Amino acid sequence: AIHASGLVKCFGDHQRALDEVSLQVESGEVLVVMGPSGSGKSTLIRTFNGLESLDEGRLEVLGIPLNADHDERQIRRIRKRVGMVFQQFNLFPHLSILDNITLAPIRVQRRPRKEAEARANDLLTQMGIAEQAGKYPGQLSGGQQQRVAIARALALQPEIMLFDEPTSALDPERVKEVLDAMRSLANNGMTMVVVTHEIDFAREVADRVLFMDEGKVVETSSPDEFFANAREERSRRFLNQVM
Ligand code: ATP
Ligand code: MG
Repeated sequence: AIHASGLVKCFGDHQRALDEVSLQVESGEVLVVMGPSGSGKSTLIRTFNGLESLDEGRLEVLGIPLNADHDERQIRRIRKRVGMVFQQFNLFPHLSILDNITLAPIRVQRRPRKEAEARANDLLTQMGIAEQAGKYPGQLSGGQQQRVAIARALALQPEIMLFDEPTSALDPERVKEVLDAMRSLANNGMTMVVVTHEIDFAREVADRVLFMDEGKVVETSSPDEFFANAREERSRRFLNQVM
């Protein structure tokens, strides 16, 4: 689903946020991305839906090339097929939960309102928040808002879902409900790239863990191998700090 080789992204003259990153994500696979602050995790997954452009390297997402010379048309094609959820939920505060979810399906995909609303209600049920449909974002807890953000991304029926630290802005007691929603998505075969520090989640849900430092991929391992017996000294040092 995602083929990347030699990705380079520079901000300014000196520093490489991505320094020759290569990876593959197969269809149906869950890749968890870990690494210290500033290692390039957000920059990496933002390239997968064209939020960040590349300086060098070859990137193909769902068969669509997103190299340095890509144009707006390719970005639009990608964004229809790749959903993204951020740390901050970015819901529209003046729209109801239902309207937040149906806005893009109705406006962008030109779906009939009835159909879009039926699907939105299904997604809210799937996320365990069916009774919140008529409320506004400000009336929901952080965990509920993040599940709305996931439902909103899913409403466009994406083939890949990208998550950038989706639980790190949440109160600890709200983290589990969001991770549970993501776990069920993974169990239903969604292709996912997840930046997270949640080790239990990574252990249970990831097919592979990719560890980054200073814009480079340090190692890619199975979760069992990575958490029990990481290959690289740099990975072990990181794990000692977070576990
Ligand atoms: P964190 O865990 O703190 O979210 P990260 O691994 O997601 O970190 P990135 O946000 O990808 O790291 O940043 C990688 C590097 O690129 C950092 O040194 C950062 O300062 C730099 N960087 C990222 N975005 C920009 C930008 N828009 N302008 C300038 N520098 C940037
Ligand atoms: Mg980040």
